[in-house]
Amino acid sequence: MTPEEFRAHGHQLIDWIADYRAGISKLPVLAQVEPGEVAAKLPASAPETGDAGRSLVSDLDEIVVPGLSLWQHPGFFNFFPANSELSSVLGDIASAGLGVIGLSWESSPALSEIELRVTDWVRQLFGLSGDWRGVIQDTASTSTLLALLEAREHASQFSMSGGGLAALDRPLVAYLSRYAHSSVPKAALLAGFGTDHIRWIDTDETFAMRPDALAEAIAADRAAGRVPAAVVATCGTTTTTAMDPLAAIGEIARAEGLWFHVDAAMAGSAMILPECRHLWEGVELADSLVVNAHKWLGVAFDCSLYYVKDPAHLERVMSTNPSYLRSAHDDDVTNLRDWGIPLGRRFRALKLWFMLTAEGAEALRARLRRDLDNAQWLTAQLEAEPGWRVLAPVHLQTVCVRHEPTGRDGGALSGEALDRHTRAWAERVNATGRAWVSLSTIEDRWMVRISIGALETEREHVETLWQEMRAAVAEPSAPEIR
Ligand code: PLP
Repeated sequence: MTPEEFRAHGHQLIDWIADYRAGISKLPVLAQVEPGEVAAKLPASAPETGDAGRSLVSDLDEIVVPGLSLWQHPGFFNFFPANSELSSVLGDIASAGLGVIGLSWESSPALSEIELRVTDWVRQLFGLSGDWRGVIQDTASTSTLLALLEAREHASQFSMSGGGLAALDRPLVAYLSRYAHSSVPKAALLAGFGTDHIRWIDTDETFAMRPDALAEAIAADRAAGRVPAAVVATCGTTTTTAMDPLAAIGEIARAEGLWFHVDAAMAGSAMILPECRHLWEGVELADSLVVNAHKWLGVAFDCSLYYVKDPAHLERVMSTNPSYLRSAHDDDVTNLRDWGIPLGRRFRALKLWFMLTAEGAEALRARLRRDLDNAQWLTAQLEAEPGWRVLAPVHLQTVCVRHEPTGRDGGALSGEALDRHTRAWAERVNATGRAWVSLSTIEDRWMVRISIGALETEREHVETLWQEMRAAVAEPSAPEIR
């Protein structure tokens, strides 16, 4: 494609994206396709001859959009807010257009320097101390893997003079809450902690990790000759947005010499609001922290912010220095390849920078406060209406709920009947195309999880959701509760 062909298609594409976003609420939020339907619209192999004149936007209209569930839709209440501010979309387009790769500072000086600067802007917006240094990774899964690799090397230095995990004669142990995200045990396994040496720590009635149970588990492992090495606490668990008590966990980690990683992938965005920072009190005791700017904050996926207190340790664990990557400036600059796993790095900082510059911190704070208010409003409706039960504290924007009707005999439903009822009414809500909520289990029973905070979600959309929920449970002769 020549620059002139690109210009023509590019203008069309930008117009198309703007129209798509402006009209998104008229589309069904949940994809309406059957498995295999999208693939069947594409030829089985790549074209031999290109056609630069072919309309790319008609492919988007005809093939792609009908095959999408719409994360930017105002009725999107599933998973977590994965906001993609259009200002950050421009940054992503610019990044691809520039076509540079950060292998070293010298390979793209602006890439490294803007990344270090804008991650520091976000650090300040979060109210974190100047002890932290930030770097952008693709996802929280990668950031947490880095944390556990750092933890492993930290512990193996304590127990021996070099040689890495394989040379250790005693197993290292990692601790996490039983509500930790699946990326945490996965990272522990990938970092070499064996399945037998991952401890799932019990939680309290708010689904937060119990520090006393953590202390007991550490003591038991020490008594058995194992090496407690890492604890991962979650600030805002995936299921209920439970807040592990970071201060108490951090004190234990300090006293026991454990690496302390905080997974604030979703909830960390809330820390731009001073009134929310009590929820992560103790975060300064951590060694590493992840917040996904590609969730509630508004940066187009992918943009995971990994903060560490000791970048020199990260470099010790991650650095490589082959001759072909050396440059005359190496002693004076930060080579971000040493702050993560991949060598080649995308210019992700552009989309974060463009978003922060175009929106400004005040507007971001106002948007998040709107979402907190909407979550409190919905909670109040649920609590005021008989039959509904809010299952966990609504710390931020996630509301976990069950509708608990009485059975035909006037008594409570059996567990299985309640599960059938929950699944059925959630599916009825989702079938409307106006809202998409998630189903999840808590304490082995199904519940509906409503995550509020898409860019376009205003009070009216939460009101519509509430109406759909009431209609869905009121449907006559619902077979699932017989
Ligand atoms: N940690 C928490 C608490 C999450 O909620 C999620 C995703 O939902 C993750 C980690 C994983 O995020 P990513 O997709 O960036 O790896």
